[in-house]
Amino acid sequence: MAYEALYTRGRPKTLSHLIGQEHISNALARAISSNRLSHAYLLVGTRGTGKTSTARLLAKAMNCERVHDAQNSGRPLEKKEIPCNKCDACRNFDSSPDNVEFDAASNRSVEDVTRLLSTAYLAPLRARVKTFIIDEVHMLSFEAVNSILKLIEEPPPNVAFFLATTEINKVPMTIRSRCQVLNFRLIPQATIAPYLLKLAGRLNVTLQEDAAKKIARLAEGSMRDALTYLDQCYAMADKEITLENVNETLGLISDESLDEIILAVKAKDRAAVGRAITGAFRSGLSANIIAESLITRLRDIEFDMLDKGEKNFAELDKIIDALRQATGEMYGSGIPDIILEMTLMKLAAPVQNFVAMPTVQNSAPRENLDAGQKIFYDVINSLRGEDKGLDSISDQAVVMNFAGDELTLGFKSSAVAGIFNKYHKQIEQGATQVAGRAIKVSVVVDNNLPPAVFKNMSELERSNLAGAMKILNASDAAKIND
Ligand SMILES: [Zn+2]
Repeated sequence: MAYEALYTRGRPKTLSHLIGQEHISNALARAISSNRLSHAYLLVGTRGTGKTSTARLLAKAMNCERVHDAQNSGRPLEKKEIPCNKCDACRNFDSSPDNVEFDAASNRSVEDVTRLLSTAYLAPLRARVKTFIIDEVHMLSFEAVNSILKLIEEPPPNVAFFLATTEINKVPMTIRSRCQVLNFRLIPQATIAPYLLKLAGRLNVTLQEDAAKKIARLAEGSMRDALTYLDQCYAMADKEITLENVNETLGLISDESLDEIILAVKAKDRAAVGRAITGAFRSGLSANIIAESLITRLRDIEFDMLDKGEKNFAELDKIIDALRQATGEMYGSGIPDIILEMTLMKLAAPVQNFVAMPTVQNSAPRENLDAGQKIFYDVINSLRGEDKGLDSISDQAVVMNFAGDELTLGFKSSAVAGIFNKYHKQIEQGATQVAGRAIKVSVVVDNNLPPAVFKNMSELERSNLAGAMKILNASDAAKIND
């Protein structure tokens, strides 16, 4: 028997199957029962939350004979009857020439899209209502958007539009204001996991509860992703899907690897943290997934401790809090790996491990600093854009001294300095190239370093600013008054 992907089998067949979007299915069921459907819908939400499925259900329901009968007789419809899936219209829907579906993100030509849209002016061949389902509508060309706008403003009879988008901000206001907007929510893990268990039951596959929970967590609110993950595990597993299967199949971080990171942090062993986190990154996992896995693992450990009657959670809570904050910062930052690494390093080593040299800057002659800065920024500029991590931390480096063949860089935080060390060789080689002789780069950590904003200022600018700050705040001025 050919294997049919769960993603297809799990696709909702009626409004009652629309998981996690009850606010939408209830409202649509009421609108259909009272024959108050709109001719243009804008379905908004992250990928895999059910936008296209809902559009298909609605398009089908608009043509369903039994839905029409109920509407005509005034009988309220239940969600599981929308659509009926039994009448001719429902059974022929998938191959119906009156339902046009396309993805604006695909490489269709402008002419192609215009031609498809122009068929809206032709009467439906067989169906009552001609339906257009357009995915990623924000990707349409200007011409296509205009055609749609015209169609929505003065709709030909018996045409309905379902426009789906993951990026509402990119959909022109003119379209938004003319559509009925349906906002799809991320589907909670607590909804996804039981659904996966039910689906597995139907397939006669034993899916362990912790495995289902893990998949639900990974899906990050997308049922489609959850079903795809389950599909992959199902293909690899033999009648039973365990948490181990899930980790193995999806290349996930195991509890042992998570424990390795946690133990290293608790032991304040920064080198071990570095090794453990590098190992986790090497498996191709995103920093987000690692951070979330760590939080979940820490919570599990706390629950175990609670069971054993232990009460002191302060240390683990501190790690959880820091990771939570880091996940917030990681979102959309472009350097999530660095943020996670820095967070763990900070937790593992509160300063001290580097030699502090607070006096270097005071004693270094200005011309040496200028020469050192020139070399350092030449190197950084030549490397800029190659590595986001380097870009972000090079901004925090302060050239503290340049004497003989040694360039000394200072960092305010040991965590950043630790990360900088990854690029140490690269910078040293660059400096050697720029200077035309062998240059050694050394790194110091100094909590008293002036904020990075001062580092490129001339002596005069510095003293002016220091003077201004002295007036504003004597203690702050003391910090920068070199
Ligand atoms: Zn039907």
